[in-house]
Amino acid sequence: MSYFPDSPSQNLHAFAFSHGRAEHSRMAHKPVVIWMTGISASGKSTIADALDVALRKKGRMTAIIDGDSVRGGLCRDLGFTEGDRDENIRRVAEVARLMLEAGLTVIVALISPSSASRHCARSIIGNAFFVEVHVDAPLETAEQRDPKGLYKKARAGLIKHFTGIDARYDLPVFPEVHLDTRALSVERSVETLLDWLAHNHDRT
Ligand code: ADP
Repeated sequence: MSYFPDSPSQNLHAFAFSHGRAEHSRMAHKPVVIWMTGISASGKSTIADALDVALRKKGRMTAIIDGDSVRGGLCRDLGFTEGDRDENIRRVAEVARLMLEAGLTVIVALISPSSASRHCARSIIGNAFFVEVHVDAPLETAEQRDPKGLYKKARAGLIKHFTGIDARYDLPVFPEVHLDTRALSVERSVETLLDWLAHNHDRT
């Protein structure tokens, strides 16, 4: 039987590579995937960047997967229909899983609007390694920030299927961490995440 039940091929078999997750248990910092979800301009990339700097200072090996850069390369064949968004998230989750296996702490900054697709990402990565972070800002706040001018374009009808305007965002129900970026500075958000990791994932 195939080891990858969702794959169309029945002839795939997972090789038992010597370096695996069991080896991670000996590392000071357990590799995890920090999955930042939230509407556009909620602060995902800004916090991801600051968190990355802070984690590297603490000796973690990190990688950032940012929605925009993925859409320019790995997922450039995908659009913004629900099906394409789900596929975008599935691919990112698979890449994050490979990075995790390599021992990295992976920071994903992706709107990931549907709870079903976030659930899918969690199951690809594994519950014990998945830290869902809701980077939260009300639509009005995000729209005022609008650093890339995308809300303006969406309101003018120049972008279709824009999350919060004409595409839905499912609020995370039980994220591991909730960051209200109206109330928290970028620095406080990073401290909140570092505290959470220290209590749940660090061994030093
Ligand atoms: P996203 O990646 O969620 O689309 P960005 O990080 O690209 O969002 O943009 C968020 C914008 O909001 C940036 O211009 C950032 O400087 C600004 N901002 C203002 N206050 C905050 C805050 N407390 N936390 C995060 N970003 C903030």
